[in-house]
Amino acid sequence: MRQSSLVVVANRLPLDDSAAPDGACEWRRSPGGLAGALHAILEQTPATWVGWGGRVGEARPLPDIGTLRLRPMSLSEAELRGYYEGFANSTLWPLYHDAVVQPVFDRGWWESYRSVNRRFAEAAAEVAEPGATVWVQDYHLQLVPQLLRELRPDVLIGFFLHVPFPPPELFMQLPRRVELLRGMLGADLVGFQRPQAAHNVAQLAAKLLGTHGADTAIVTDDRVVRTGAFPVSIDVAEMRSLSARPYVANQSRQLRHDLGGAHKKVLLSVDRLDYTKGIEHRLTAYSELLRDGRVQVRDTVMVQVAVPSRERVESYRGLRDRIEREVGRINGEYGRVGEPAIHYLNQPFDRADLAALYQTADVMVVTPLRDGMNLVAKEFVAARRDDSGALVLSEFAGAAAELEDAFLVNPHDVDGLKETLLQAMAATPDDLATRMKAMRAYLTRHDIRAWAGAYLTDLDLARSPSLGLR
Ligand code: UDP
Repeated sequence: MRQSSLVVVANRLPLDDSAAPDGACEWRRSPGGLAGALHAILEQTPATWVGWGGRVGEARPLPDIGTLRLRPMSLSEAELRGYYEGFANSTLWPLYHDAVVQPVFDRGWWESYRSVNRRFAEAAAEVAEPGATVWVQDYHLQLVPQLLRELRPDVLIGFFLHVPFPPPELFMQLPRRVELLRGMLGADLVGFQRPQAAHNVAQLAAKLLGTHGADTAIVTDDRVVRTGAFPVSIDVAEMRSLSARPYVANQSRQLRHDLGGAHKKVLLSVDRLDYTKGIEHRLTAYSELLRDGRVQVRDTVMVQVAVPSRERVESYRGLRDRIEREVGRINGEYGRVGEPAIHYLNQPFDRADLAALYQTADVMVVTPLRDGMNLVAKEFVAARRDDSGALVLSEFAGAAAELEDAFLVNPHDVDGLKETLLQAMAATPDDLATRMKAMRAYLTRHDIRAWAGAYLTDLDLARSPSLGLR
């Protein structure tokens, strides 16, 4: 395979291959994803993307996407269970999300995680040209930076963590904490969604590895590792142009009609079916509002999109059962013929249909218990054609640090959540317009191109050792 000067390494290739047995969909081919953000850069720089295509077994060669070459990785059934469903999604994912579900530690999974990380590092080493930039993505591949540095000390290595980095006390529970920290610190620049994460890592590195430094640079025995916050974003222009399509407007009109017409307040939530998303807390709040007669199915309806996710993992199956039982109970108790309290959709939507949903909502309810960023919140703002619509947003989503004009809420506090939902439903058009304008203006300046540009520019600074320390 030819070599590239820019290599992206991620668990998934940027393909819409949703045929993965567990519905894994971290990276799908969409103009709004990382591949789209890199587009402007890719036009001048031949790049290669290393990742899994979504099918178990031997990887087949895949055609280029424009100027982007794909280097598909194979994953066996055992690796899918040990590396992906096991260590990545049953150990690291819950631990990194405040342990809202108890992380599972299984020693067999670690071996699988390590060997898959090694293969990804080897593939990256193979396709990177001398002095190339290699950008490693997310918690699945936390050992890759160090493994790659051992193989290819000449390349510039970036690592970006899309999920939260936990408080030190939680990270300390990890049986393989030293290896995981060392793995990540093999990079020249480690990027996070929030500054707090860089602070946590600096503290842990001092404690576990005896390093020095501060929140922007960690000094190890032989190198300086720069760290920083780079909040990820969406392709705002793409979402806007999608939203301007006649199809989306028609779809939205139809949805509004099907949901009961102009007088109904439509509450919308769009999540992967994941325990971090706070779906159960939200259902409790809504059901209590119905019980107390503070909202009525005559004038309010909730739409919950819950996209199937990681369905072979036990905790996800249990969650789905509980949610579906609760939706059934709420509809049974409060629905009327032809007028359910909740429309529950356990299916994925394409981007145009999502844009139509976003445009139909009066209140977008995004209340994760913990979320690295939450792109849905940003997409909602970008998809609105006018200044109407309220965003209720969890304080525990990375997006809350940026979308300060949302109705911010602590989703663990069900009473507070109920009050905030009512407040958002009753907000005046003027209030909503002020908030929406501010959020839109912010997003326009901070889209995904700005994110990728800021990260790669900072990474490039690490090439010059004198600039390595800020
Ligand atoms: N999404 C989608 N179809 C759906 C539901 C969600 O394509 O039916 C996309 C959504 O547009 C967003 C992503 O999935 O870009 C979810 O990202 P987010 O950061 O909100 O949560 P994550 O799933 O990464 O935890």
